[in-house]
Amino acid sequence: MKFELTILGCGGAIPTLDKNPTSQYLNIQDRHFLIDCGEGSQIQLRKYKCKFSKIDHIFISHLHGDHFLGLFGYLSTLSLLGRTSIMNIYAPKDLIVLIDAHNEISGKKYNFELNFKSLDFKKPVKIFEDNILEIFSFPVSHSVPCCGFLFKEKLSQRNIIKEKIKDLSLGIGDIKKLKNRENCIVNGETIQYEDVTVLGNKSRSYAYCADTKYDEKIIPFVKDVDVIYHESTFLEELKSKASKTKHSTAIQAAKIAFSANAKMLIIGHFSARYDSVEKFTEEASTIFDNTIAAYDGFKYQIKI
Ligand SMILES: [Zn+2]
Repeated sequence: MKFELTILGCGGAIPTLDKNPTSQYLNIQDRHFLIDCGEGSQIQLRKYKCKFSKIDHIFISHLHGDHFLGLFGYLSTLSLLGRTSIMNIYAPKDLIVLIDAHNEISGKKYNFELNFKSLDFKKPVKIFEDNILEIFSFPVSHSVPCCGFLFKEKLSQRNIIKEKIKDLSLGIGDIKKLKNRENCIVNGETIQYEDVTVLGNKSRSYAYCADTKYDEKIIPFVKDVDVIYHESTFLEELKSKASKTKHSTAIQAAKIAFSANAKMLIIGHFSARYDSVEKFTEEASTIFDNTIAAYDGFKYQIKI
């Protein structure tokens, strides 16, 4: 049961030879998601062997070019490859204006339909749900309206204790109820689900905090998450620049991860002025030990 993140781009606004602009690919139990789509993301998807054509949901956090300029190329390639299935896009409302203008000027139309959903920058909103997963957007504090995204598996069914089926003469309907945390009545006797079932798999979660200044308002949205990605554009020496440009330092990212009780922190969106990211991990680790500096192609599987 996969829950795997691939970093396609760990760089900030200016791409470099080894750091592409922001984009991430998430495979959760064969559901395929693209989070932001900086320039060149389609090449990165191929390079790191992601399911290029299987992505059905694209999340764009905000409309700074380094987070969405790759989208036009990616959608165009999908169309050229003959895609016909709907593509769901969750983004600031103006993105659809840009896409429509581009298509009109270039005289092209995609072979597939776009299902466009505008993000809410005021409060957290559940933007996707199926039988195993929920996805929420939540506002962060950047220089333009910007959202982070939380991907969270639903609590799985409980597992029935096999011997109890025979002992209590449980039928298929009873078992279904009990696994879904409902009590049931068998031969006039109430069976408590907790007595005949055990916990199933734990629910895994990933929070992508997009571009943001240090903002403690994020913490409740990402509480107890397994892995948090928090931008870390600058080192502490440029803290005032971070504050001015509505970005964060490594230490600030670590403070959010620590306060949110996250299990692991991934930092990224590194400014092109830094050749090495070692210092970022060093600084973040003084606050939050389990920190990893993202690099293009970095893959991480959240285990059950
Ligand atoms: Zn930005």
